[in-house]
Amino acid sequence: MRLASVIRNEESLLLPTYDRQKVLFKRGRGVYLWDSKGERYLDFLSGIGVNALGHAHPAILRTLKKQAARVIHLSNLYFHEYQAELAEELTRISGLDRVFFSNSGTEAWEGALKLARLCARAENSNGHKPKWRILALENSFHGRTYGSLSTTGQAKYREPYAPVLPGVEFVKFNEVADLKQKFDASVCAICLETIQGEGGIRPVSAEFLHTARKLTQDSGALLILDEIQSGLGRTGRYFAYQHYGIQPDIVTVAKPLAAGLPLGAILTTNRVARAMHPGMHGTTFGGGPLACAVAIEFLGQLDKLLPHVGKVGSYFHAQAEGLRKKHSSIREVRGKGLMLGMELESAELAKAVAAQLLNEKILINRTNESVLRFLPAYIVEKKHVDKVISALDSALEQTTAERNRAANILKKAKRKQN
Ligand code: PLP
Repeated sequence: MRLASVIRNEESLLLPTYDRQKVLFKRGRGVYLWDSKGERYLDFLSGIGVNALGHAHPAILRTLKKQAARVIHLSNLYFHEYQAELAEELTRISGLDRVFFSNSGTEAWEGALKLARLCARAENSNGHKPKWRILALENSFHGRTYGSLSTTGQAKYREPYAPVLPGVEFVKFNEVADLKQKFDASVCAICLETIQGEGGIRPVSAEFLHTARKLTQDSGALLILDEIQSGLGRTGRYFAYQHYGIQPDIVTVAKPLAAGLPLGAILTTNRVARAMHPGMHGTTFGGGPLACAVAIEFLGQLDKLLPHVGKVGSYFHAQAEGLRKKHSSIREVRGKGLMLGMELESAELAKAVAAQLLNEKILINRTNESVLRFLPAYIVEKKHVDKVISALDSALEQTTAERNRAANILKKAKRKQN
C-alpha cells in the first residue's frame, strides 16, 4: 500500500490522536530504517527510546522466534519460568527487592501510585487519617491514563480531562524551597522523573533529589522515580538515579525493557511490597512469556553495552556543546548518556530544524516546543553522531541565514515606508 492511501484510510478510520510525519516505514536494521521508496533513514529516536538495541537485533530475533513457537501468552493465572528470572535481573541491577510486570509505562506508573497510597494505609498504625497527598513536579510527564495524567505537571495534557485524581500537588522543578514548603506529614509520596523526558530532557538537580530522599525517609513517605525514559541503560548506568548515589523506594521502567515488545515494570522494596495481597492489583497481558523472555535477552545484551553508551554519549554531548558555542540559537544542551536535549531559541526554529533533518533522512523529534530530542539506540557509533552533528550544523546555518534574510527584507520594507 502507498503512503497516500494509508494516510487517507487512517484519516477516515482512526481517532485523530496523532500528527504523524509523512513517512511509511517498511523495515529496519541496526540504527537504520527504510521507507516505502527504499530510502534509508538514520534513526536517532529509536521509537522514543524503545528500540535500544536497534532494529532486527539478531539475539532478539532468535529469542522471539524460539519463544513465539513455544508459548506467547498464558495470563497471570499460571506460572511460566521467565517472570522470576527477569525479576532477579531487575532487582540485581536496581538494588530493589520486588517486581510487578505491566504492559506499558503508564500502567507501571499507575501501579506505583496505588502502591504509595496502599503502603501509607497499611502502615497507618496510629488511627489517624493515613498519609495520602502526592507531590509531583511541574513540567513532568508520566503517561496518559488517569493517575498518570493527574501527576503530570503540564496542563495541556491534564486539563482537558479534568477533574483528575484528588490529592496531587505540583512542586516547581528543582526548587528545594517549594518542595520543603509543600511537604508535610500528610504526603505519602514524592514522585518525579530523574530526568524529565517529554518536559525537555531536564535532569533533576542533586540537591533537589537528595532533599526529596531525606524528607521522605524522615517522614516514612515514599520516593518514587519514573525511569521509563531514563532507565535501563539510557544514561550509561542501569538507572539515572545511580548517578546521584541515592536509592528510591519505587522505580518504574518500560520503553526498552523488551526491546520493542510492550512491557513495563514496577520495582520496589520488601517494605512496600508487604502492603500488597493477592487480588489487589493485576493485569492480563503484563509479564507474558514472550515479552519476558525477550527482556531477559535485552538485559543480557545491556551488560555489555553500558560502557559504550557512556562513551558515545559523552562524545555526543561534547560535539553538541561545540555546536552550541558556534550557534547562538542553541540555548542549552542537556541530558546524560544517550538521552540528549538541545534547547533552541524558539519552537519555530526547532520545528524547522527537525523538518530539515527529516529531509536529510535523520529521525529526531521536538519536545517541550523548543527542544530537539535525541534518543538513539545504544549501539550507535561516533560516525553516526558526526553525521547528525553535521546535519544540525548546516540546518542551523541555513535557518539562521533564512531568518536574517527575512529580517533584512522586513527592515528594508520599513525603511521604504518611512
Ligand atoms: N513516563 C515517562 C517518563 C515517559 O517518558 C512516558 C512515555 O513517554 C511514560 C511515562 C508513559 O509511558 P507509555 O507511553 O509506555 O505509557
